[in-house]
Amino acid sequence: MDRLAGSAEDLQARLWMAEHLHAQGLESWTDETGNVFGHAPGVGDSRLLLGSHTDTVPAGGRLDGAYGVMAAMEVLTTLHEHGHPAARCLEIVSFWDEEGARPDSSGGMVGSTALCQSPHLALIDSFVELHIEQGPRMEEAGQELCVVEGIVGVDRHLIRTVGEPNHAGTTPFPLRKDAGRALMRTAAVVQELLRSVHDTVVGNIGTVTLDPGAPNVVPGAAQMVVEIRAPHEESLARCADMVLERARTIAQEEGCTVEHQLLSHKPVVDFDDGMRALLEKVTLGTGRATGSLYSYAGHDAGVMSAHVPTGMVFVPSARGVSHSPREYTPEHLLVQGAQVLLDAVIAHTEARTAPGSSGSTGAAWNARA
Ligand SMILES: [Zn+2]
Repeated sequence: MDRLAGSAEDLQARLWMAEHLHAQGLESWTDETGNVFGHAPGVGDSRLLLGSHTDTVPAGGRLDGAYGVMAAMEVLTTLHEHGHPAARCLEIVSFWDEEGARPDSSGGMVGSTALCQSPHLALIDSFVELHIEQGPRMEEAGQELCVVEGIVGVDRHLIRTVGEPNHAGTTPFPLRKDAGRALMRTAAVVQELLRSVHDTVVGNIGTVTLDPGAPNVVPGAAQMVVEIRAPHEESLARCADMVLERARTIAQEEGCTVEHQLLSHKPVVDFDDGMRALLEKVTLGTGRATGSLYSYAGHDAGVMSAHVPTGMVFVPSARGVSHSPREYTPEHLLVQGAQVLLDAVIAHTEARTAPGSSGSTGAAWNARA
């Protein structure tokens, strides 16, 4: 599946969405960023927004993003067809360039970021995104539905060791100030350090450079970027402290020094408590195996969460594969996820229009997805 944001295929999908909504008697409009919206005629000024994105990475899968948009379309269409009052409190969206896979992309979440800076946000009172997990944890735990607690924070640290460049043949080992060796000794223990902080932490060293980078020169400097992801800010801070402390100890042993720069910090996102409770009630109501987890991948819901009460539901990804044509979730689990989205909309509308009500999940309404 190739539907890179802005490609002919992506534009075609957005056009299809608008045409499909019009054919169902619904209204659709596209904002100046490229986000495609849909709602019923006569929609109110306080709307629960449902959606995700239809762009993909190059050679991506058919579910990452598009599943949440298709399910949102199905929910809106079903409620509208049945004249359900929830249809008038609902808007759906396909966000522009979530993946950030375009060479000129500013890093993804372009459409949701733009919406959050636009006047249209004033009409949106909450947001729910349905998505595939993109990891193996639900399948391993035998879970069919998960309420997402939030999105992990991501820190990127540039760690640079500085020694002394010298001749690789004539310099005896004890006299070297080998910045490459100091860096790589640290790199080799990063994983065990992160694991010792908390079992929810993951990290990666994705780039390493040696300076000057010649086979016959002892490196005078070396640097790597350590990326750390964790669901708690304390874990992120503790990991950074531990890695830096070890880097300095090792550098000292190697006659080198350490320089450090925090390149970026994406804070942990915790989704709205009320929305999580509502989604938990609806997923538990299915009687199926459910759970909760933090997402280790970024989503538009993370952007929306800073502005309106936001929630997210995951369905499993077979073998945890995503960003690949092998992305797969069994159809009955996709349908079940769409049903949960429909029930959540009805429960949310009931809770909003009748505060203190029991918040029935409206099981009589069924998605045709
Ligand atoms: Zn996605």
